[in-house]
Formats: sequence, structure tokens, C-alpha cells
Amino acid sequence: MVELNLTSVSGTATGGDKTPVKVLVLGSGPAGFSAALYAARAELEPVVLTGMELGGQAALTYTIENYPGFPEGVGGSQLGELFQKQAEHFGAKVEFDTAHEVDLSKRPFLVKTDNAEYLAESLIITTGASSNHLNIPGEKELTGRGVSYCATCDGWFFKDKKVIVVGGGDSALEEGLFLTRYASSVTIIHRREELRAGAILQNRAMSNEKLGFIWNTVVTEVIGDEKVEAVRLKDVNTGEERLLEIDGIFIFIGHTPNTQMFKGQLEMDSHGYLKTNMQMETSVPGVFAAGEAADPHFRQVVTSAGMGAAAAIQATRFLESQGETAEVQGG
Ligand code: NAP
Repeated sequence: MVELNLTSVSGTATGGDKTPVKVLVLGSGPAGFSAALYAARAELEPVVLTGMELGGQAALTYTIENYPGFPEGVGGSQLGELFQKQAEHFGAKVEFDTAHEVDLSKRPFLVKTDNAEYLAESLIITTGASSNHLNIPGEKELTGRGVSYCATCDGWFFKDKKVIVVGGGDSALEEGLFLTRYASSVTIIHRREELRAGAILQNRAMSNEKLGFIWNTVVTEVIGDEKVEAVRLKDVNTGEERLLEIDGIFIFIGHTPNTQMFKGQLEMDSHGYLKTNMQMETSVPGVFAAGEAADPHFRQVVTSAGMGAAAAIQATRFLESQGETAEVQGG
């Protein structure tokens, strides 16, 4: 029988007790809540640390049309709430807290959050990814004052205004289309003349009267005092620059995985995506990863949810192999 009474371990930053858990899930997107659901149904009493964005990126999507089971589509935040409710129904505990330090050198793994410390027999990392920035002058200064990375969150503020969207992928077109509900005009600025987005979104975008395109062009500066007033555009073929007066700029140029905390402790690729095998196992036994933190390829709600479930099944098997499931429940 494995003893799980680990609260007496000393040497904490805060000096307080550490909470022992069998399965600790970092992140509350589709992967995190699916992992929690499966771990809860395996009676492993998982704890989910939500991180800063409850529901993950999916919760910021206005309508998700490609998650099976919802033929009419489902609101992103609504789906997130359903995921959470289902996991909690089976006993998952959800903590509105963010992990900021981990020690994966030995089990149980130490995880420090803003408010607590955990000793986790197994860890499922579903920390997702964050929006990339252009890193151009004016972008940071005017974020929240006309520069945005979330149309669902900020679109309403641009009623009858002129906005641009940067990017040529699915996100740029989907969010651009969403913005046509509010804005008087939406112009997609893309650095090439071919879109990366899928055919359905391309067709919808091309046939929307409020939506236009500027090709082979990059934004080099965001201009404005108190709020965005214009952007400087550069034609990548001719090098020609010009100013375009706008009220808002929405940037959708991809994502970076939220894995900085695990640097030097878990294997990752050159972009920071955690390396996993088919069993969602990372380079450290007992640590699993799922969703966009470990997925540079698919990044869909359904694939993330599937990976989360797989990670929890594998964590259950791992704990069983360590003799830490039924025994632990009593301890
Ligand atoms: P993405 O597919 O990586 O597209 C990023 C876009 O930004 C590309 O068009 C890229 O240009 C452009 N870009 C990158 N860096 C740039 C820079 N510094 N300056 C200007 N442009 C830049 O990212 P995403 O659109 O966020 O999509 C991510 C994943 O989620 C994809 O797998 C996508 O299929 C999926 N997704 C799916 C849906 C859906 O199914 N409805 C919705 C949203 C997202 P290039 O094309 O020249 O590289």
C-alpha cells in the first residue's frame, strides 16, 4: 500500500502544508475537462487548476460548428461550462488557481500555485497556447485600446467602426466573419496572396459584402495616442508603405504553447510543444500532456478533448501499475 499522507513534507516557499492529489490537471480547456471527467470516473478525485482562462481558447469562440453532437453549433463558453459541469458531476474538483512552478524531478510532483502547493502522484498538462503578437511599435501600448486578440470578447466595442484583421488562417477568417456583425467594414491583411484557411471559411469570407482583403501586405506599426487611429502597411513585394485609418486591429497570427514552466524538465520541440507519444506520455513517467500544449498539428476542440481523455486513461493505468489507485482511495 502506498502512503499518500504527504502533508508533512517540509521546505515549502510558504511553509504551509502541501495538498496530496492523485491526478492534478493543469488547465481548463477541452483537454483539461475531458481528462478530469475520465479521471473522476476512474475515482481518482482529480483536481483541476483552471489557469487564467477558464474554458481555454475554445471558450472565446462565438460558435463552434465542428464539435460532434451539436448539429446547429454550440457557443464556445457554453460548451466549456458543459465540460466543467460534467467533470464536476463525477467528482472532479475545480480550483480557480494558476500553477506557476513545478518540480518534476521526483514523484510526487510538486506544483506551486498562487495560493497553494500540491503533491501530485500524476500530472496532466493541458495548459494550451496563447495568441502570438506581431511585436511592432504601438501594439503593446494600444492593446485594449483598439488592439485585440479576441473578436468574441471585444467585437461589440467596434459597432459601425472600421477594423482590420491580421492573418490568413482559420482564426483570422472566422473571427473576421464574426466581426462583420458589428463593424462597418472588416479588412483582412495577409502577408501572402493565398489563404491558409479552409475552403468553407474562404468561401464564406469571399462572399461577405462587409469583408475585404489586402494581399501581400504586413502591418509595421500601430498608430494612435489614446486609441488606435491608423496602421502603417507595407507591401512585401514592392516595399511601398502607406497609412490606413482604422478604429481597431485584431491579430490572429497563430499561437505559442504555454509550456515555459516545464522548460528543462520535459522534452519539447523547438516551438515549445511538449513531446508526447501515442499514450500522451511526456518524457517524465507519470506526467502526461494533452491539447494544444502538446499538439502543433490539429488544435481542434474534438482532438484536444480526445487527447485529454487518453491522457487520463493512461494516468489511471500508470497509477495502477504503481499500486496507487484503490489503495490510495482509502489513504
Ligand atoms: P495558423 O493556421 O497558424 O495561421 C496563422 C496565420 O497568420 C497564417 O496565415 C500566417 O501566414 C499568419 N502569420 C503568422 N505570423 C505572422 C506575422 N508575423 N505577420 C503576419 N502574418 C502572420 O493559426 P490559426 O488561424 O490561429 O489556426 C490555428 C489552428 O487552429 C489551425 O490548425 C486551424 O485549422 C485551427 N482552427 C480551426 C478553426 C475551425 O476549424 N473552424 C478555427 C480556428 C482555428 P502564412 O499563411 O503566410 O503562414
